[in-house]
Amino acid sequence: MDITFLGAAERVTGSCYWLRAGESNVLLECGMIQGGRKDEAKNAEPLPVRPGEIDAVVLSHAHIDHSGRLPLLRKQGYQGPIYTHLATRALCSIMLSDSGYLQEKDAEWANRKRQRRGKPLVEPLYTQADGEAVIEQFRGLAYGERREIAPGISVRLRNAGHILGSAIVEVWLVEDGRECKLVFSGDLGFAGAPVMPDPEIIEDADVVLMESTYGDRLHRPPDETLKELADVFEAARGGNVIIPAFAVSRTQDLLCLLSEHYEAWGIDRYRIFLDSPMAIEATSTYAQFRHLYEAELFRPGSSIPRLPNLHMSRTSDESMAINTIDSGAIIIAASGMCTGGRVLHHLKHNLWKTGSHIVFVGFQAAGTLGRRLVDGAEHVRIFGEDIRVGATIHTVGGLSAHADQDGLMEWYGHFKGHPPLWLVHGEPDAQAALAKAINTKFGIDPGIARLNECVSLPGR
Ligand SMILES: [Zn+2]
Ligand SMILES: [Zn+2]
Repeated sequence: MDITFLGAAERVTGSCYWLRAGESNVLLECGMIQGGRKDEAKNAEPLPVRPGEIDAVVLSHAHIDHSGRLPLLRKQGYQGPIYTHLATRALCSIMLSDSGYLQEKDAEWANRKRQRRGKPLVEPLYTQADGEAVIEQFRGLAYGERREIAPGISVRLRNAGHILGSAIVEVWLVEDGRECKLVFSGDLGFAGAPVMPDPEIIEDADVVLMESTYGDRLHRPPDETLKELADVFEAARGGNVIIPAFAVSRTQDLLCLLSEHYEAWGIDRYRIFLDSPMAIEATSTYAQFRHLYEAELFRPGSSIPRLPNLHMSRTSDESMAINTIDSGAIIIAASGMCTGGRVLHHLKHNLWKTGSHIVFVGFQAAGTLGRRLVDGAEHVRIFGEDIRVGATIHTVGGLSAHADQDGLMEWYGHFKGHPPLWLVHGEPDAQAALAKAINTKFGIDPGIARLNECVSLPGR
């Protein structure tokens, strides 16, 4: 029995792990590598396991850094099942289609340049149709339901509290009469987040694979986060507020907070634009699965959000019309790290103005435009144009969808006997800090998963 770390090793994106027990091969996730162009080119490289030899795939949640290469895996010949929560299947049917669309647009853009230079044309990684077709292979599971997915390998999903449908994956592997229980944290939610419940506690494991995105940081307490947001909306009276947000989870958290603090924050003075067809669709998926969380996002008995001044901008004309507004708009648009999407147009129109406020509410990976802004860049390039940063940039860390160092330590601390731990899904500095803190508190030495490293699993 062994595990090979095929992705999210010493980085946050590209989550992918290969599990073997006896003759069975299971792929845990098949996520997209995101960041600069050089890194993204790695998405096209073949996996060391042939797609035809994989018996089953398990997916923790819908985010593209976990699910984004599934359409490619299908294209390369994988025809088997993809086990995941029912809500994740619903979200992936929106997100993988969009991802394919973006791949096609990227290839078109590259090919226009290539044609002019007389260079050979490139193919998109996969198309919108590929993104839609792979959903047929998804098999929906409920939380707590144990299922054998390949001979000698069974799984059970537990609520990770990260986004709708997100799961911690418990995996039982059997080989030669010995059993190993591996627990993969997936992405763990932040206890006290506006919409999602706290991550479920698990006590038994022979080996744990844990994310470490915020392994070196503590989020600000929720009260301070609310105060920061209140101050932004107070300060932004003379301009627009742009919130680059992931379509799933950050957007719904924001809608939840804006309606809960509608009067206190003076939100009635603003017009709020949800400028992302994907965020609009994701929000209706939240309406469909409202039994999975407690917050009241929608009007009773309907799927209409509670906020009265919310405009849903579906078409690009509706989106472009927002560019004529000089002040009093709260614009929530994807992508969350400003790597593409409608938020780029809003940044182009607002970033240079001193009255604008840009509010980052999620993790910004190295190499992204969002990261450059958070790091204090004075000029950035958007659509080939040099733009001076005149706007005020805010980072509201407390709204993260991820557990912070304390949250990760606490979750791991519930495992009886402190089993061997491998850290994944984190940048090296975050992992080093978390490994040190865990060593001090629990006396164990966590491993840092290295790319393509194979580790044998303990059996009992
Ligand atoms: Zn995630
Ligand atoms: Zn992730």
